[in-house]
Amino acid sequence: EPVLSIVATPIGNLGDISSRALDVLAGADLVAAEDTRHTGRLLAHFNIKAEMISVHDHNERQRAELIIRHLQKGAQVVLVSDAGTPLISDPGFHLVKAVREAGFRVSPVPGCCAFVAALSASGLPSDRFFFEGFLPAKSGARQQRLEQLKAEVPTLIFYESTHRILASLEDMSSQFGAERYAVVARELTKTFETIHGASLGELIEWMTNDPMQQKGEFVVLVHGAPEKEAVIDPEAERIVRLLAAELP
Ligand code: SAM
Repeated sequence: EPVLSIVATPIGNLGDISSRALDVLAGADLVAAEDTRHTGRLLAHFNIKAEMISVHDHNERQRAELIIRHLQKGAQVVLVSDAGTPLISDPGFHLVKAVREAGFRVSPVPGCCAFVAALSASGLPSDRFFFEGFLPAKSGARQQRLEQLKAEVPTLIFYESTHRILASLEDMSSQFGAERYAVVARELTKTFETIHGASLGELIEWMTNDPMQQKGEFVVLVHGAPEKEAVIDPEAERIVRLLAAELP
């Protein structure tokens, strides 16, 4: 049966590839990769040879047609991204939607995902969380988005790059308040893995004093807003009392 497999790859430590991921990659007729050079190096490391095509944000819709034609001929196709789980702040959504609509099976081969790894070790509430991914690159749009998120109760989870980590923490601090507790998870599964929790104000100070902490890849997790007590509008309460007095 032709299948499109969505295969997770490591987020730093190659030891995190699963044996099923290796089997599925080795058995693929076609590997659709975000960056074929990057994936080529991963496959070479594991002595896997495969035909590859690129699938990225700009060609995903055309590639979907090509991949569907391969599936119609009975091919086993794999989608991978540069790191972690495809479709999670990565290309693949349009492809998966089109392949499912064409009636083919899409099957996940799960593994690494940076935000799940970060959340699992952060010590922040993990029963409910809000995955936001990347914030807008420009500060104005970023502040606007953060303002919309400031009353959310679930743990807030963001992806951030070395270029914007400090600017984003500063915008978070101005929107959520410098006292809000947050955790920065840097370089997970790699040599300089650091998971550090403090108030946003303290995190900014810590990173400013130690610029090495601004290097690498980041997941930022912010404690959610306190659960609001059900506040009853005093005017509504007055009306309810008046109405209740009229009841027989
Ligand atoms: N698909 C990936 C996943 O499953 O997590 C995410 C891809 S997204 C383009 C890349 C972002 O994920 C980075 O900018 C960073 O925010 C986060 N990330 C990836 N690897 C990481 C790591 N080893 N440590 C911390 N964050 C990481």
